[in-house]
Amino acid sequence: MNIHEYQAKELLAKFGVPVPAGFAAMSVEEAVAASRQLPGPLYVVKAQIHAGGRGKGKFKELGPDAKGGVRLARTEEEVRAAATDMLGNTLVTIQTGEAGKQVNRLYVTDGVDIAKEFYLALLVDRATGRIAFVASTEGGMDIETVAHDTPEKIHTFAVDPATGFQPHHGRAVANALGLKGDLAKQAASVASKLYDAFLGTDASQIEINPLAITDDGKLLVLDAKVGFDSNAMFRHKDLAGLRDETEEDPAELEASKYDLAYIKLDGDIGCMVNGAGLAMATMDIIKLNGMFPANFLDVGGGASKEKVTAAFKIILADPAVKGILVNIFGGIMKCDIIAEGIVAAAKEVNLSVPLVVRLEGTNVEKGKEILSNSGLAIVPANDLGDAAKKIVAEVQKAA
Ligand code: ADP
Ligand code: MG
Repeated sequence: MNIHEYQAKELLAKFGVPVPAGFAAMSVEEAVAASRQLPGPLYVVKAQIHAGGRGKGKFKELGPDAKGGVRLARTEEEVRAAATDMLGNTLVTIQTGEAGKQVNRLYVTDGVDIAKEFYLALLVDRATGRIAFVASTEGGMDIETVAHDTPEKIHTFAVDPATGFQPHHGRAVANALGLKGDLAKQAASVASKLYDAFLGTDASQIEINPLAITDDGKLLVLDAKVGFDSNAMFRHKDLAGLRDETEEDPAELEASKYDLAYIKLDGDIGCMVNGAGLAMATMDIIKLNGMFPANFLDVGGGASKEKVTAAFKIILADPAVKGILVNIFGGIMKCDIIAEGIVAAAKEVNLSVPLVVRLEGTNVEKGKEILSNSGLAIVPANDLGDAAKKIVAEVQKAA
């Protein structure tokens, strides 16, 4: 689960991380009111979307010469103008894809005089299973470009969970950023607080870009991207309210309500499978037969008829789906339950694309009988290879 910059900064501030003052705003009037509560003379109006690159982004509605999603303002009128330009419009950045994202929230924050910008991130290093710091003096810009062109400017090191964050980790961050004296102390302190925040919230990433030195020698977090491990969210009921469902894929959101593991992909064949391993194998064999899966969907081990129905509806609601392959191994999950779910859903939503079903395992005969008695145009398959061949053939025939 990802959150907005303003939420990330409020959260980090609770752990003692230094951030500039600021307020979220949902309307132009709220943005102006927010600026009145800040000292000035410089304000920054920032579009809140779950994507970076806002500063260099472009609004679809405003044309190529208009400014991006991070704007400096010196007067109330400038704050008003920036807010009016952004709210309700679609911001396209290198991270949003061409479709862009609609801006529904703003953050109005203190503008600071920046002497230098750094990059500092914490993430889980999957190779070592440890929380790792990534630090670079090349902040404020696209870190992927830095990693590609000048990898020697990116420093990484992991923290041993047995010792936790130690003073030497703080010094390592300060060194990586080339800081000495008081600034080195500030960097070590920020790093330690970020580590506490990461552990304390079961984060999956905290990315600060830029971490800035101000003209008066203070280290400040100017942009923060925070994501949490969804599997740990049950431990953080207080964080659940930070979720912004408008930022999520509607189908994935619907799937999460039924506890289905669903991920939208780019191909044509919708897949409904039980078990992640079987789902991967099914996707592979579709590719082997020359087409691509439209989604990954694992209905899980003990799915009910309702869950199967919901899964089926989600697949069918995707306009990209030209055919559906159901591949179920009935273990705990019985084949007749699956068959009932498929029939119920197909009747409810008016099945308009070819459907191939491969069932195997517990109550398989009962399941096959339900399908063949349903009156629906379901193509039965004997095994996985057969199923993949058949769905590809059916889709090509229908095209
Ligand atoms: P994004 O990464 O989405 O483009 P940032 O928050 O990093 O958005 O803002 C882009 C740039 O705008 C920063 O690198 C920084 O130079 C400037 N900026 C952001 N916040 C402030 C601020 N509070 N005061 C002054 N400049 C800022
Ligand atoms: Mg940034």
